Amino acid sequence: MIQLFADLGHLIFPNLCIACENELSRSEKHLCAFCESDLTYTNFHHFDNEATPVDKLFWGRIALTATYSHVFFEKNKASQNILFNLKYKNKPQLGVYFGTKIGATIAQMDKFQNVDAFIPIPLHPKKAFIRGYNQSEMIAKGICEAVNKKMDTSTIRRTHHTETQTKKSRFQRWDNVNEKFKISDKVLNYNHVVLVDDVITTGSTIESVAVALRKKNPSLSISVVTLAVA
Ligand SMILES: [Zn+2]
Repeated sequence: MIQLFADLGHLIFPNLCIACENELSRSEKHLCAFCESDLTYTNFHHFDNEATPVDKLFWGRIALTATYSHVFFEKNKASQNILFNLKYKNKPQLGVYFGTKIGATIAQMDKFQNVDAFIPIPLHPKKAFIRGYNQSEMIAKGICEAVNKKMDTSTIRRTHHTETQTKKSRFQRWDNVNEKFKISDKVLNYNHVVLVDDVITTGSTIESVAVALRKKNPSLSISVVTLAVA
């Protein structure tokens, strides 16, 4: 009888893949088998003490305790679709879903054992208002559910919009980005925080947030977790 209701429910409310929106079979959960197999996992958690490409990206820029990115961002593949849907297609549950996956992975990593808080990179308030949610916060939410830790959305505040940054050099860009984040004294209560973002490209946003955090709390350990790395 319960199965009959489940089947009826499936007919009336079909479960759709959160990435491609094709109908899921009963054995599939959230993500269809095609999208799942189309993802390239980084396996950074198997690097042990070897530096990952994300570690190397920050060398000479900012000292980080640990980094983890879940998948490689690849054009015309599921990862691109997932990031697009998460950002622009009102799919906050995509972030939470991958957050729980990420949480389960970093729970096995020694470097992520003593974390005080997971802090999503804030969106500008105007953008968050238009989108209805901050995709990085959704990822952090899933992580915190999986590892049973605290999410902090009040320590970092994004202030004003800055002019478009695409035509500037990296040095100029850094100065420009750095003005956008205000750090609360709350950061003085922490020894180790993890910054959470949807995707790493140049790393300049992470870098400027980390610099701003250290200005307030010079001995703070900072780690970085993202859903994807470009
Ligand atoms: Zn799919």
